[in-house]
Amino acid sequence: MKETIERIRKFKDERDWAQFHTPENLAKAINIESGELLEHFLWDNNYNKKEVCDELADVLVYCVHMADSLNVDIEEIINKKMDKNEKKYPVEKARGSSKKYTEL
Ligand SMILES: [Mg+2]
Repeated sequence: MKETIERIRKFKDERDWAQFHTPENLAKAINIESGELLEHFLWDNNYNKKEVCDELADVLVYCVHMADSLNVDIEEIINKKMDKNEKKYPVEKARGSSKKYTEL
């Protein structure tokens, strides 16, 4: 994962694109790419997995850029959130349920 993140950073740095990577711009980019991902499931469920993975990768790449623009460690923030999720959704209450934590 570290090598992949470095590759993403190198791509940005070689093109001098950090100047465009404000948190606001990146939040918009994540949302736009999420829309492109969602578009593959519009009207039916006959999606092309390769095309879906391309859009998923776009979302993930922008997430890496967003973490960089906020100067936070992506693994650290994911793990902090997972700590919260594990408390909100304890296995004994949440297993097999799609209910929101407030309804468990
Ligand atoms: Mg895209």
